[in-house]
Amino acid sequence: MAAYFDHAATTPLDPAVLEAMRPYLAGEYGNPASLYELANRAERAVERARAQVAALLGAEPREIVFTSGGTEGDNWALKALALREGRAPGRVVTSTVEHHAVIESAEYLEKLGGEVTHVAVDGHGRVDPAAVAEALDVGEKPAVASIMAANNEVGTIEPVGQIAALCRERGVPFHTDAVQAVGKVPFDAHALGVDLASISSHKIYGPKGVGAMYVRRGFRLAGFMHGGAQERGRRAGTVNVAGVVGLGKAAELAREGLEAERARLAALGERLAEGLLGRVPKIAITGHPTERLPGFVSFTAQGVEGEAMLLGLDAEGFAVSSGSACTTGSLEPSHVLLAMGIPPEVAHGSVRISLGRENTGEEVGRFLEVFGRVVERLRAMSPTWKG
Ligand code: PLP
Repeated sequence: MAAYFDHAATTPLDPAVLEAMRPYLAGEYGNPASLYELANRAERAVERARAQVAALLGAEPREIVFTSGGTEGDNWALKALALREGRAPGRVVTSTVEHHAVIESAEYLEKLGGEVTHVAVDGHGRVDPAAVAEALDVGEKPAVASIMAANNEVGTIEPVGQIAALCRERGVPFHTDAVQAVGKVPFDAHALGVDLASISSHKIYGPKGVGAMYVRRGFRLAGFMHGGAQERGRRAGTVNVAGVVGLGKAAELAREGLEAERARLAALGERLAEGLLGRVPKIAITGHPTERLPGFVSFTAQGVEGEAMLLGLDAEGFAVSSGSACTTGSLEPSHVLLAMGIPPEVAHGSVRISLGRENTGEEVGRFLEVFGRVVERLRAMSPTWKG
């Protein structure tokens, strides 16, 4: 039996989410912006979903704007806040371990003449709020600061509440990429004091291609898409009704199950990490030892390529991810691991396991049995493994 261990990449659609979406993929096809009853029913479904997402984020429904996902949210936050008509973009403060959607949006702004200040992380991938304070104060008042809530490669949870407070004191708009954190650990937008937060449906057992942006009440965020008055003029384009309904249901399920699932996944993850360290020599867990997403185990194994481990494990029926930047089609070591001070040759041997709702203790046990064999075989063939 194959086991899926890559929930940070995406999650399976929850059957209850599919059921909630089904009517809006078929008979309930109204455009929520139209005025007759068929359309009104679609509009009510969208508003119900808005309330469900708001409840998961500790927000008010009017603070939720639906998007196409995390990438759109990250692009929107950075570009809408930094771009200024007729002038070079405003300064961006961000970290060295962000998702590419933030990193490359910042690079784009830099190309247009903007300045980007990168805050370094420690060996666990954690941003120090004091370093953020320094970056905020170092030059021109930033147009936006963007620091993720939890990292997608090593699972480290960032101190966004403290960072949001530092930004608020200085009047700097603060965005957090909350794609990996939301639904796995408590995320209360009001308590954290963030201005903007991007989330994505397919990381919480919802459909792909849909997400949401939390926009704090009273915060002015210019539209990023033009050509329609949808989402109270904040995001033009016909709303993805079925997708949004799916995200709403996924948010409701995530909220209801959060505490129990968090404890279950944390225990499974610990068992997996301890099992790896106990069975295979020269393995190091990466990411923060305690401030880490539950069920998230990323590690490096010396003398073995991450891609080779991924393929070896795939042949045994386990879907995991390697820390190399396979997303870009290259085998560059992960920018996150390098930013954490891990040497490139070690970073090449990284694997990310992210457990989720359907994983069991039996699967973890089976993985541990298989893993030692896979690594041993690869090390036997490796020119860099010195035993
Ligand atoms: N931000 C983080 C931290 C992610 O892990 C991802 C997904 O890989 C994204 C943004 C992009 O989200 P989406 O796939 O919804 O565009």
